[in-house]
Amino acid sequence: MGKGPGGPFPMTETAAFAWERPAPEAAGRPSAWGLLPEQLEALGAPIGGAHLFGRLQRPWTWKGGALDLGKAAAAWLEAKADLHLPVILERHRSSDGSTKLVLGLADGHRIEAVHMPRLVRNPRVTFCISSQVGCAMGCTFCATGAMGIKRNLQAGEIVGQVLRLLSELGPERPSQLNLVFMGMGEPLHNLANVHQAIRVMCDRRGLDLAAGRITVSTSGLVSGIEKLSKMSPRPLLALSLNATTDEMRSTTMPVNRAWNLARLRQALDAWGPRPNEKFTFEFVLLAGVNDTDADADRLAAWLGELRHRHVVNLIPMNEHAHAPFHEPLEDRIQAFSDRLKGHGCFVTVRRSRGRDVQAACGQLVKEA
Ligand code: SAH
Ligand code: SF4
Repeated sequence: MGKGPGGPFPMTETAAFAWERPAPEAAGRPSAWGLLPEQLEALGAPIGGAHLFGRLQRPWTWKGGALDLGKAAAAWLEAKADLHLPVILERHRSSDGSTKLVLGLADGHRIEAVHMPRLVRNPRVTFCISSQVGCAMGCTFCATGAMGIKRNLQAGEIVGQVLRLLSELGPERPSQLNLVFMGMGEPLHNLANVHQAIRVMCDRRGLDLAAGRITVSTSGLVSGIEKLSKMSPRPLLALSLNATTDEMRSTTMPVNRAWNLARLRQALDAWGPRPNEKFTFEFVLLAGVNDTDADADRLAAWLGELRHRHVVNLIPMNEHAHAPFHEPLEDRIQAFSDRLKGHGCFVTVRRSRGRDVQAACGQLVKEA
């Protein structure tokens, strides 16, 4: 990597991007919440790896909302691993029913997660969770990007967000749950921990989530997409496209300087979706920057050449102090959406939840 495939931003051999280096890992012991039954067994779990795993990973069996392993097993586990679960430090309830949460980690870092109940039809809840503290990708419209990268989350800290939200806010059963990795961080820059967390959460002895209900959202880290495409269990993929020319995308999303739009499409064509699997394309609308009719036409043309089925999710820019961009006017958003639909695209517009508490998409957590 480092050698961009030409285009307006050719990179030299020596050029280094922040995401080419692994992000720092958490100091200290591994979190107990990210260990599989076999791993607990290998550590010598006194009540059997599968049994202990079930107690840890099934919050509906906890007593009064708290894990109760019994004295001996708790003491054994505490000697081997870190039992700290992310703690809810702030709750921001929005008028749309969603709750934005600031969660505290054992070392004092703060991350965000969002609890989004679906208010219509059968009850389902989507959790939006974080994969890193901060982010190395440097997208110019993103508040998390402005923080830079602090560290990867451990697998157990990723699972811990889900267990904490489930036990404190519901739903009652994980079968009513969808997960999206759209909080802080680039999940494919922390692929090992993210995938370990997915393995733990899909294990039938614990939460037993279906991989088809988990979506990993990426800015287009192609090396990670290629690795994830071969992993099992394999989640769904969402791509943050956000621009329709390499020139624009390389300006707002530096990852495009390493893997341009053509290279990204190649990786997606090679993904090999399962039946009924669709890619989701996120497109943050930046007023006067990527929201013209010509952008809509180029976007439809680019998507039209993809081999696999997909949907487009338009996200009007959430304005914040770290970026010079603005949300387009309502008419423009509608016109952009209509134009895409006119080209045959399936389009939704995400009215970012929690705007009324100034806490949408990466705006909750500020670090000094
Ligand atoms: N790093 C991953 C996932 C987290 S970002 C990714 O980029 O896909 C989740 C989504 O929020 C992405 O689609 C990103 O484009 C979008 N986003 C970032 N900053 C935003 C902002 N200020 N307004 C609206 N959406 C934003
Ligand atoms: Fe990172 Fe995603 Fe924000 Fe880009 S949009 S800086 S990849 S969190």
